[in-house]
Amino acid sequence: MADARSPLENEIRRLIGVAGPMPLADYMQLCLTHPQYGYYIDRDPFGAGGDFVTSPEISQMFGELIGLWMASVWQQMGAPENVRIIELGPGRGTLMQDALRAAKVVQAFRSAIVVHLVEISPALQQIQQRRLEQLGVPVLWHTALEEVPRGPSIVVANEFIDALPIHQAVKKPDGWHERVVDIAPDGNLFIGEAREPLPFFETSMPRALRAAPLDSIYEWRADTMALELGRRMRSDGAALIIDYGHAHFGLGDTLQAVAGHAFTDPLRTPGMADLTAHVDFEAVAQCAESIGARIHGPIRQRDLFLRLGIEHRAAALKAAAPRDKAVEIEIALSRLIADGARGMGELFKAMAIAAPELGPLPGFEEP
Ligand code: SAH
Repeated sequence: MADARSPLENEIRRLIGVAGPMPLADYMQLCLTHPQYGYYIDRDPFGAGGDFVTSPEISQMFGELIGLWMASVWQQMGAPENVRIIELGPGRGTLMQDALRAAKVVQAFRSAIVVHLVEISPALQQIQQRRLEQLGVPVLWHTALEEVPRGPSIVVANEFIDALPIHQAVKKPDGWHERVVDIAPDGNLFIGEAREPLPFFETSMPRALRAAPLDSIYEWRADTMALELGRRMRSDGAALIIDYGHAHFGLGDTLQAVAGHAFTDPLRTPGMADLTAHVDFEAVAQCAESIGARIHGPIRQRDLFLRLGIEHRAAALKAAAPRDKAVEIEIALSRLIADGARGMGELFKAMAIAAPELGPLPGFEEP
């Protein structure tokens, strides 16, 4: 049995043996970004042959419209001579490739750009490099946003925050206990809870959730990323965040594992499946707002892309395409803007964090 375990599972068991039960957030972080065995570190998880498909991989329209969004935000910023285009978690680099191609229509913008990609995975950095090297725009890589120099910037992050580790706590009669990964007597990993409650935990959670019934689960992320975005954007830029999640805080366990396009148990084969959890947009917004940035949205992905003109773009592409391609474009369009409980256009939300003086941003204007 023991030799069937992945090297990362052995490492996690060793750490639990040494330090005791492991907070879920540490577990998630190790699974995704352990320097040797982390899920993202040495593979390309995207596309039909991978584990999941993201919006930029569904259609070039996604990145193109974001490219035009960036060009018009740059104009709103007063067309600074130098602007950093920062992407968080660029995956295969597809979004940026499509965005920069579309942005060619605003030459002055293209000439003002330096691209900064924040990517933790050496394997994906290589793929991004191959993709972006012929575009004629300078590109630099970093492993954290903090490493990117300050200055006027436009940030985009699609399906990035959902991959940042979450903490969970469960309500018990004596308070909220952090959920932890532990080893059961039968030798399997399981999710339990820390013996002692988290001190003064209720004061840090939304007031409306404090009266939750026993056994409720509350999830949260470290606010480092939201604060860093807020701090940078409040004076000099705008960040577009697109991810799946909820517009308002709530209760419940949203941790999920996906491998080979199917859901799996987050504790099975650590490091071999993608782990994500809903983005709590309200928490990100409150955090960025608290230090002076202005929040736009969140709105549904569907609404943002309809307002940015995705139907016109699809019609133009279809007019220039052979018949079978035209059908593909139509299918891609309906996937990106699909509504209903399981539709991408509904599940995914878009929110912007920006300098207050920029005013309304494209796609976020009140209808
Ligand atoms: N935006 C891309 C990929 C989304 S998957 C798309 O839409 O297709 C998440 C991306 O974030 C991957 O590129 C992954 O390697 C990167 N990533 C995950 N955790 C990270 C972290 N802590 N720091 C930097 N990059 C990270």
